[in-house]
Amino acid sequence: MRPKSHRNVATRKPHPWGTPPWTVDFRPSRWALPDHVDFAIVGGGFSGLSAAAWLRRFAPGQSVVVLESAGLGDGASGRTGGMALAESAAGELPGLGDVLAGYKKILRAFHIDSRLMLPGVWELGRSAPAKHSPICWSDSGELKVVRLVPGGTVDPGKVVAGLARAAENAGAQIVEHAEVRALDFSNPVRLRIRGNLGSRIHQKEIRAEQVLLATNAFSLELSGLRPAAVPRLTFALATAPLSAAQLKAIGLSSRRPFYTVDFPYLWGRLLDSNGVIFGAGLVPAPMSTPFRAPTGARSIKNDARDLHRYDVCRGEAAGRLRWLESRVRKLHHVLASVRITHRWGGPILFTEEMLPIFRHHPRSKQVMILAGYNGHGVALSVYLGKWAAQAPRPKSRRTLFSVIPTGRSLGLRPAVEGSWLD
Ligand SMILES: Cc1cc2nc3c(=O)[nH]c(=O)nc-3n(C[C@H](O)[C@H](O)[C@H](O)COP(=O)(O)OP(=O)(O)OC[C@H]3O[C@@H](n4cnc5c(N)ncnc54)[C@H](O)[C@@H]3O)c2cc1C
Repeated sequence: MRPKSHRNVATRKPHPWGTPPWTVDFRPSRWALPDHVDFAIVGGGFSGLSAAAWLRRFAPGQSVVVLESAGLGDGASGRTGGMALAESAAGELPGLGDVLAGYKKILRAFHIDSRLMLPGVWELGRSAPAKHSPICWSDSGELKVVRLVPGGTVDPGKVVAGLARAAENAGAQIVEHAEVRALDFSNPVRLRIRGNLGSRIHQKEIRAEQVLLATNAFSLELSGLRPAAVPRLTFALATAPLSAAQLKAIGLSSRRPFYTVDFPYLWGRLLDSNGVIFGAGLVPAPMSTPFRAPTGARSIKNDARDLHRYDVCRGEAAGRLRWLESRVRKLHHVLASVRITHRWGGPILFTEEMLPIFRHHPRSKQVMILAGYNGHGVALSVYLGKWAAQAPRPKSRRTLFSVIPTGRSLGLRPAVEGSWLD
């Protein structure tokens, strides 16, 4: 099937969640939805696009379609802070391997100009500072460097675009504005899709031999994650460029990104322009959760309310952004009157024990789920996207991380070998 046309450069429409400073400079060719595919991937973020690119590389004879309900990168991947972090939000996991090394290799394998820099990441805290902290900010106490951990930054817009380009060049079909509304767990799996072709809305059913749900904080009823995971909207802002002297004064000359290991939570990084991104805050319900802090079973309350009802210009979401801005202005006198160029929010999925989810759907071995990075998914989603693509190959079965109920809390069942075809 030939694509209908090819447009290369995207312009972002204003979004109720605001506009991040990243650009996804790729739009896929326009395809008609197929009737049947070998692999259907639901979700066009880092996870889904990485899996699509790798599937076509591992199984070039098999058809792959990526179904994205909005535009590529309209979920967390185009709205993220772009800090490339090691391990998972729950720390090291048995059998996970070196996420950052794997991430670097993947970006290189697909020739993605991601602006990846790995100078390390500062962990900041209000107690037990390192001897010579370059950072000294005022934020519920004195915020200083505690230690340096592996990691760095990427331009996430370039990563989304690069993965999508790699997937499409390898022969995957990527269809934007195609929302999967329901799954029938038959063999093959049937996906009911609502497509939006500009002025025309249409419904279509696709049959797929295998399905990967890479829908992150959305569509929890499809993935069956509704009881075990909590979606939230989180926030960030970017400042106008700072001078070299200003960067030195606030301790960011090294260009290292940072996050706090205590509360209130704050993370941030520099842009190429020398603007600084700061991020924090969650709606609904205040639940300040740092990337590494475990959440107790009791703090997980499920909330069926749709994140799309939030608008960063109004109500609770606008309030969280005002709170973030006021904190940033008080961190250091250099930031007191800095101009804010971008304000935005994005979805995040919290799981119990902060464990990523990579497992079969409880209702079908032909459906896999990859999600739940707990704000720690820039490198991990791309890395595990490759695992998801390897899983269907009988000779290359990968460890599945399965979040399984163990009484009141959830436990990790590591080193479970499996494949989509089990
Ligand atoms: C503001 C913010 C800052 C962050 N900062 C960092 C950071 O610095 N470092 C870090 O490691 N992590 C960070 N994260 C987390 C990281 O960005 C995510 O873990 C990662 O992007 C998840 O990628 P994904 O592909 O799994 O999900 P997403 O990018 O959210 O992709 C899921 C896609 O699925 C689509 N979809 C959902 N339902 C359907 C459906 N039914 N049919 C079709 N399509 C559907 C959505 O539209 C979406 O595009 C941050 C997140 C946010 C929001």
